Amino acid sequence: MTARFRTLDDLGDIKSKVALVRVDLNLPMADGRATDLTRARAVAPTILELADAGAKVLLLAHFGRPKGERNSTMSTSVLQGAVEDVLGRRLMYISEVSGPVVAQTLGIFGPGDIGLLENTRFWPGEEANDPEFARAIAANADFYVNDAFSASHRAHATTEGLAHLLPAYAGRAMQAELEALDMALGNPEKPVAAVVGGAKVSTKLAVLEHLVARVDHLIIGGGMANTFLAARGVDVGKSLCEHDLAAEVEAIMDAAEAAVCTVHLPYDVVVAKEFTAQPPSLRTCNVHEVAADEMILDLGPQAVEALADVLKTCRTLVWNGPLGAFETPPFDAATVALARTAAALTREGSLVSVAGGGDTVAALNHAGVADQFTYVSTAGGAFLEWMEGRELPGVAALQRS
Ligand code: ADP
Ligand code: MG
Repeated sequence: MTARFRTLDDLGDIKSKVALVRVDLNLPMADGRATDLTRARAVAPTILELADAGAKVLLLAHFGRPKGERNSTMSTSVLQGAVEDVLGRRLMYISEVSGPVVAQTLGIFGPGDIGLLENTRFWPGEEANDPEFARAIAANADFYVNDAFSASHRAHATTEGLAHLLPAYAGRAMQAELEALDMALGNPEKPVAAVVGGAKVSTKLAVLEHLVARVDHLIIGGGMANTFLAARGVDVGKSLCEHDLAAEVEAIMDAAEAAVCTVHLPYDVVVAKEFTAQPPSLRTCNVHEVAADEMILDLGPQAVEALADVLKTCRTLVWNGPLGAFETPPFDAATVALARTAAALTREGSLVSVAGGGDTVAALNHAGVADQFTYVSTAGGAFLEWMEGRELPGVAALQRS
C-alpha cells in the first residue's frame, strides 16, 4: 500500500530555511484549557527536530469549525500556552497564515524559532483546497512537512494542496503512522486477524468489505455481532441490532468464504435485562439462549478463549471497535481480556498489533495495554478511512511529490 514518501531523513541542510509544518493541534478544550495534550505530544518530535536543525518553523493547524471566518474563540492563540508547555520552547503566535505579516515575522526569526500561524480554517480557501490560498501560504516557505495523518483524509489546502507546491516530507508522527499501517494491512506478516467491534455494522460496512479480502480471520464483536447473529437466524432479544442489514451481512459472509477468510462470531455472550453497571439480571449464556427481554452486552468467556487461541496462531492483528459495552462494567470483560492477550503476544514478539478508533483507544487505555500494542492510532476518521482501503488525499500527495 505505502508507496515511497520522503521523510525528515531526506532533508539536507535546513539551517535558516523556512519549514511549513502541518500539525494536528485540535486539542479538546474545557473552560478555555486543553484537557488532553496527546495530539501536541505526537507532533513535538518533528517540530523540535526541525528547530534543532536550525529551520525557521511555521506551524499550520486547524482548530474547531470556524467555517471560513475569523472567530476569536477558535484562534490558535488559545493553544499557544499548551503547545509551549509540551515543547518546552517559546512560540510566536502569528495572526495570519500568509502575506506580509508572516514575511515580516520571518525577517526577525533566527534559526530554530517557531511560529504558530492562525487557524487555517479561518479562510474558506483551506477547506476548498483553493490553489491561490495554498500558493500564498507557500510563498513564505522553502519546504512543507505534513505531520497530521489525522487530518490527511481531507483534501484541504494545508493537508494536500501545499504538497504540490513545495518539496514535501512526512513528519515523524506521519512516518510512524504510515509504517505501522503498512505493517498491519499493506504488507503484513500472515496470518492476519482483524477485530471489528463497536456499536453498528452500518458505520463499518466498508471496513468489513475491505477486510474480508485481506485478512485470514475476521473477528466480529460488539453490537455488530448481534446484527451478524440475527442475520443468521439467531434471536438476539432486545439487543442493539440492525435487522435491516441482513442482506449486507450475507454478502460479507459470502465474500469471506470466497476469500478464505474465517469469520468468527461469538457462541456465548453476556446478557442482561437492563443496561446498567452490575445489573441483577446479569448472566452468561449460549447465543441461542438469549431471552426476548434480554440484551447482549458483551462476548462470553468461551468466545474470548477461542479468540485468544486464534490470535496465538496469527502474526498480525488490526483492531477497531470494542467487543462489548466496555464503558459499563462488567461488560468490559471480553474487551479487556482479549486486549491483554494481544498485548502479551506483542510483548513476546509473536504478534504485530495495530489498533485505532476513538472508543478503541479508550478501551485499550481502560485495559491498561495501549502502550503495549505495536501501534495505537489516535487518528479517528482518517484511521477508519484507511481501514476501508481508501486513498487519503494528504498521504497520496506526499507519495507523489
Ligand atoms: P470506535 O470509536 O473505536 O470506532 P465504535 O464507535 O464503533 O468504536 O463503537 C464503540 C461503542 O460500541 C462503545 O460505546 C460501546 O459501548 C458500544 N458497544 C459495543 N458492544 C455493544 C453492545 N453489545 N451493545 C451496545 N453497545 C455496544
Ligand atoms: Mg466511536
